Amino acid sequence: MHPLFDSSAPARACRAVAALFATLPAMSQDRPGYTDTPLIPGQRWRVHDAERPAPPVVDPGAAPEVPAEPPSDAIVLFSGENLDAFTGKDGEARWKIEDGAFEVNGTGDIETRRHFGDCQLHIEWRTPVPPSGSGQGRGNSGVFLMGRYEVQVLDSHDNPTYADGQAAALYGQYPPDVNASRAPGEWQSYDIVFHAPRFAEDGALVSPAVVTVFHNGVLVHDHREFLGPTAHRSEPRYVAHPPEGPIRLQDHGDPVRFRNVWVRPLGERSTGER
Ligand code: MG
Repeated sequence: MHPLFDSSAPARACRAVAALFATLPAMSQDRPGYTDTPLIPGQRWRVHDAERPAPPVVDPGAAPEVPAEPPSDAIVLFSGENLDAFTGKDGEARWKIEDGAFEVNGTGDIETRRHFGDCQLHIEWRTPVPPSGSGQGRGNSGVFLMGRYEVQVLDSHDNPTYADGQAAALYGQYPPDVNASRAPGEWQSYDIVFHAPRFAEDGALVSPAVVTVFHNGVLVHDHREFLGPTAHRSEPRYVAHPPEGPIRLQDHGDPVRFRNVWVRPLGERSTGER
């Protein structure tokens, strides 16, 4: 008897397995994301577009055994002991400190006491192991320059999500050029060069925020313009703000860890005369 017409248990199991495999391609194409969000200005994609291709995966190599030391002129924001350089919701930053790192613990975002404009930022992070959750619910945090412009932190190792929301994305605006993520539990790094936006006295935008990002040493944004402050499911729009702001770290409810955080404010650039 043809297996399609065979009602025996083995044949039913066989058909069930065949049906499962038939649905797999559709499931893998069924990407998380949105189809009803506004178009990102200047792009063909919607905000968090489900159809936007995921960046190609690049293996950045193993994490260094020991974190690199900050340069001598850096402002060290966390060296392993305390969060004195940060404030939290009620004044003190209350994230958990353990093993020379600090960890999101549900007490809300924290941000630097000192404010920065143009700067170079180094920060290391690792997502929980074993991983739990999926998509945006897996190892989510974020580094917000000036408290407004997010470079996304997420476990993007075998964890599909919308492209503009994966690790190292300028959230809701640009995916990274490649996915240079390490596995959950491994230390990762961002090296960020950020130029603050400039506003005229009447509040009009003179020049946008510009960012260059290395993820685990791999260039993922080369002098990219932020389209405005980070927004969820909506179009980014610049609103004039002070020339300096805090570096804010996001409490998205997942116990992401950070360490070795330092910043170098950028002064006037060399004119070639020195
Ligand atoms: Mg985030």
